[in-house]
Amino acid sequence: MFYIPTRIFFAGNALQQAREHIARLGTKALIICGRHSATRSGVMNELLPLLEELQQSYEVFAEIPENPDLETVIRGKQLMLEGGFDFVIGIGGGSPLDASKAIMLATANDLKEDQLYDTGLMRKRLPLMAIPTTHGTGSEVTPYSVLTDPTRKKKAGFGTDLAFPDLAILDPRYTLSLTPRVTLNTSIDALSHLLEGIYSTRRNPHLYPMIAEGMRLIVKNLKTALNEPEHLPTRANLMKASMFGGIAIAHSSTTLQHSIGYPFTTEFGIPHGLANGIFMRQMMDFYYPAVEEELANVFAAVGITRDQFYDWLSSFPIDVRVPISDAMIDEKIPEIMAARNTVISPVKPTPDQLRALLKSVQQEKI
Ligand code: NAP
Ligand code: ZN
Repeated sequence: MFYIPTRIFFAGNALQQAREHIARLGTKALIICGRHSATRSGVMNELLPLLEELQQSYEVFAEIPENPDLETVIRGKQLMLEGGFDFVIGIGGGSPLDASKAIMLATANDLKEDQLYDTGLMRKRLPLMAIPTTHGTGSEVTPYSVLTDPTRKKKAGFGTDLAFPDLAILDPRYTLSLTPRVTLNTSIDALSHLLEGIYSTRRNPHLYPMIAEGMRLIVKNLKTALNEPEHLPTRANLMKASMFGGIAIAHSSTTLQHSIGYPFTTEFGIPHGLANGIFMRQMMDFYYPAVEEELANVFAAVGITRDQFYDWLSSFPIDVRVPISDAMIDEKIPEIMAARNTVISPVKPTPDQLRALLKSVQQEKI
């Protein structure tokens, strides 16, 4: 079964190509973005004149932090209600895109802060357009939104078909301004999603050729993107890989590869993609017996061996050690074990296995 209700425009002038569909979204948009990326990426320069031509009014809520929190979502909902907006445009990396999904659903269903994960209460939606400016999360083609509750230092996602954007505008030019660090972290996130399309118990073999192509694109292009950040064909390849990763997890969901990283973001501020990256090799070793044949086929399609993949991975600065204490490891184990994405993993870790995985990134002598 395949299901992606999002209309995807992937091109150097994707906004213009989507023009007639944008015109149908509504009359008044709340544009939801981070502090700088919507402008730095060049999206605003092209989007605002288009909205004016289409006689669609708008206001901008440019306050989405990295790892969006529940309180920001509720502030966005209040703005939506006060301003009478009838559609939403999310611009940015996964953080603003996820926030725009949650704000749209909170508004349509009048959700309060403690109801934001309750998909049972989500019955209605508003039109949503997503414009990614990173090549990592694939959020523009997924039904997920990942939110952080800073008081409980907990990061978790929810998924509902209502959260799929109506339109996804993928224009690789918008990623040319990414720093090397965000380039690396988000590409590693996309790689995680592609691999999780294989690891998950909900894996879909029909998607393996797409997954292999996404992995090939990352393996062949990441070094060039770091050395020549403004090389457009390279960015286009990474953006395509990220979209493929999003389509993969839209079907398979994420796995322990993601849930194990969340505490490292909430407790130590490690960016999302890097939090996946620090466990990527260990996670592949852990899952390997359950998906040996699938991985072998994908690596053959990519044209490398598993060992060559490990060598390639270790050529990037993702082998970070974290000052996590034994006590914190013990505290996080039940949370990770209970996470929705851990539960659908093909090999469910025992608490001792999880402890060993967590200790593999622990800084010595703390
Ligand atoms: P992000 O948190 O959205 O952005 C990271 C940084 O990159 C921010 O400082 C941002 O600036 C900057 N940035 C973004 N685009 C830029 C551009 N074109 N030029 C210059 N700077 C730019 O990063 P992300 O890795 O894309 O998203 C991570 C979030 O997505 C996490 O919360 C993660 O859990 C979530 N996620 C969601 C899904 C899903 O399916 N929904 C899947 C995986 C991950 P600004 O602050 O100015 O925006
Ligand atoms: Zn991710």
